[in-house]
Amino acid sequence: MTFAIQGLAVSRDIAIGRAVVLASSRVEAVHYFIRPEQIDAEIERARKSRNAVVDELRRLQEVMPKDAPGELDALLDVHLMLLQDVALAQAVKHWISERLYNAEWALSTQLEVISRQFDEMEDEYLRERKADLEQVVERILRHMKGMASPVAAPLPPAPPGAQRELLADGGAEESLVLVAQDLSPADMLQFKSRLFAGFVTAVGGRTSHTAIVARSMDIPAVVGARAAGQLIRQDDWVIIDGDAGVVIIDPSPIILAEYSFRQRQNQLERERLGRLRHTPSLTLDGERVDLLANIEQPGDGAAALHAGAVGVGLFRTEFLFMGRGGSLPGEEEQYRAYREAVDAMHGMPVTIRTLDVGADKPLDKASAKDYFLNPALGLRAIRWSLADPAMFRTQLRAILRAAAHGQIRLMFPMLAHQSEIEQTLAQVRLAQAELDARGTAYGAVQLGAMIEVPAAALMVRTFLRYFDFLSIGTNDLIQYTLAIDRADEAVAHLYDPLHPAVLRLVADVIAQCRAQGKSISVCGEVAGDVSMTRLLLGLGLRRFSMHPAQILAVKQEVLRADTRRLADWAQQVVNSDCPAQLLSN
Ligand code: PEP
Ligand code: MG
Repeated sequence: MTFAIQGLAVSRDIAIGRAVVLASSRVEAVHYFIRPEQIDAEIERARKSRNAVVDELRRLQEVMPKDAPGELDALLDVHLMLLQDVALAQAVKHWISERLYNAEWALSTQLEVISRQFDEMEDEYLRERKADLEQVVERILRHMKGMASPVAAPLPPAPPGAQRELLADGGAEESLVLVAQDLSPADMLQFKSRLFAGFVTAVGGRTSHTAIVARSMDIPAVVGARAAGQLIRQDDWVIIDGDAGVVIIDPSPIILAEYSFRQRQNQLERERLGRLRHTPSLTLDGERVDLLANIEQPGDGAAALHAGAVGVGLFRTEFLFMGRGGSLPGEEEQYRAYREAVDAMHGMPVTIRTLDVGADKPLDKASAKDYFLNPALGLRAIRWSLADPAMFRTQLRAILRAAAHGQIRLMFPMLAHQSEIEQTLAQVRLAQAELDARGTAYGAVQLGAMIEVPAAALMVRTFLRYFDFLSIGTNDLIQYTLAIDRADEAVAHLYDPLHPAVLRLVADVIAQCRAQGKSISVCGEVAGDVSMTRLLLGLGLRRFSMHPAQILAVKQEVLRADTRRLADWAQQVVNSDCPAQLLSN
């Protein structure tokens, strides 16, 4: 039966595919794809782990004291029976060989399938056996954790556009959509190179970092679809409408046909926009507008160039640091990554932002558990870096060295205090002195700050005394101005880029920078939102940084705009108590 669930639209377009439901087991399971030639080794790894747990339980039975309660022995028998169940082994084999899941993923997927079957059982005793199954699977997963996978190497990235071709060819039955309770930004990045046609998560806000990574992958995604985990089953047919934020499960043929039609229309629209790639980004009155790219990994530079970006306006370097089990990349590794980004942009400016971890971007899953009550107000971004100067200077040295090979703009996240600015700049000088002492070459950089907290927006004149350029991080500026956790879908309806308080801060920062002839950009999600382009142009913004996938649509707006007409209107919008109303007129 067809049914639909509403979530938050985070990444446009439509995906149609079979659901891959990520189980949320109590034990963390790593998820990655293996290569076809690794299937046998992975099945063997799963088998060995299961056998090891069987041995472990048998040993436990042997050493059990004679006076131990009989139930304990019976329980171990049940666990041994579940462990040795042929159907479980067959199913794990199936997920590994048919879907190329790693062993942990295969096991947790099967746990999820069986759990649902248990839930539907009438017999209470049998229903309760679910807990036993979970314990057994957890034991195997825990065993695997201590056993390195022989096949954990990341896969080569899929060729750009491959998944679109898959759909365009009518091969929708081969498409897979990922459904999860939640995905950390690091998980999302791990899936970046694979051919998922879309994503659905049960939690998350529109500008959570998970949503941002989904958007950067330019595939349809819906977050905050609360019931997704319970309602979608493995292999269900699912339509993700990333424009409306709707997920349709088990669609009827008529609905399927309608969405396939819309998918083709979107494809035609993309092709039409593609023709603007080499068109200079000028308004009708001849104002040049720089459209830059936000990237998460050095390899994203190619997509930025392909979309016609004139540089990178935000390289979120924290993604180089995540999902490494706490081991941080050293200076050399970082230098190579930054250099790769610089080389990819062929002389165009690359704005590298120093580490912005914390809040909804934990370094790894373990540190996520160390959350304080208000992680977004805690040790994140520049605060994190200043709390660990050695780590910070390692990153600074790597960036300064990469600057010998191209134009780098060095940018700092979330500064709010003058003392933080001074400490930060002192660390830059120290990093330069360290490189001098070593006789290592480095280049000159422009220094910039993000305006992400109201305090920074309100003291922009101070910032301008220290920095060559500023960039407004609207994602955080909105979060901190309105006291709305950007990752929390429960308050997503209050997260409002058009709130008069937010607009006034944005307008004022742009005006002050322009008055002093300093470079100002916006690199939060509103920069790539076409419904905001005219307003930002009217406020005087001439530098927008966004996901490469949004550049051409924004360029289309720029080409249609006349900034002479927009300026007065933009002031009216900013001064209005209800800007949204004026914007829609
Ligand atoms: C922002 O806050 O707007 C921004 C661009 O930084 P991030 O989304 O990485 O926090
Ligand atoms: Mg931010």
